[in-house]
Order: sequence, then structure tokens, then C-alpha cells
Amino acid sequence: MHCPFCRNSDSRVVDSRTADDGSSIRRRRECPACGKRFTTVETASLSVVKRNGVTEPFSRDKIVSGVKKACQGRPVSDDQLALLAQRVEETVRASGQAEINAQDVGLAILPPLRELDEIAYLRFASVYQGFDTLDDFEAAIARLREEDAASARSEASGASE
Ligand SMILES: [Zn+2]
Repeated sequence: MHCPFCRNSDSRVVDSRTADDGSSIRRRRECPACGKRFTTVETASLSVVKRNGVTEPFSRDKIVSGVKKACQGRPVSDDQLALLAQRVEETVRASGQAEINAQDVGLAILPPLRELDEIAYLRFASVYQGFDTLDDFEAAIARLREEDAASARSEASGASE
């Protein structure tokens, strides 16, 4: 890392701090030649491999715009979408891979979207999982109902203990 002031090729790290979400490290550096201090930010690169094989950098904005279509007319705020995109990024980064398939990004979107809004979830799943027929919707809705019933049962049994 060259000093931005005198172009000296050496610098000393005086402080390191990891961002809250663990996606970047901020380092305070000091140049031994001119004594000036500067900050560098290191971000672990995360790429998404699309179905056509093209690789592009992971972007929370892309997650938001992708999910936003499914949320049209639904009571979902921009803040909630931003939080969803953050959760998706944390999930895919937790896999520890530098490259992730677009398919897996879609999978990471489904659980938090379902918590947010079940209609938006069904719309997104129908596109992403390629629902062809009403049967596909019926099956997905039946799964949602079963899981809702299961979680209601476990809450009820938890309350009676
Ligand atoms: Zn310098």
C-alpha cells in the first residue's frame, strides 16, 4: 500500500477495525517516511455467477430491486427491504465462498422474504422456482399452511409447559 502523500511504498498499520457485519476491515496506517496517517478499507470480494456463466459483484441494490417487484402493492417498506438485503448478504458471506451461484442467492432470499410477506414470497418463489401451473402454487401454499400450523402448534405446546 503506497502512501497517498509521498508515494512511499511502505506503511505501518496502527489500528484495525472490522465492520459490524464482518464484510470489511478498516485499517489506520502510518507512513514511516513522511509520518502522515491514512485509512484503507479491505472488502472481501463476493461474486455472483449468473445462469449464463457471467460473473458480477454481489450487490445489495440488486437484491432489493429483484425483491421489490414481488412486493408491489404489499405493505413492505424500503427499510425492510434494505434489512432483507443485508440478511441475504450475511447468509451468502457465511458460506465462506468468494463466488456464489445466483441460484443460491435466490435460496437465501426466500426465508427472510417469507417472514416479511407471504404474498410477496409466493410471487418471488413462482418466478424464481419457475412455477408453471396452479398446482405449483397450491403445493407452495399447502407447504406454507403446514409450516404455519406446525409453528403454531410448537408455540402452543411451549406456552402450556
Ligand atoms: Zn508518506
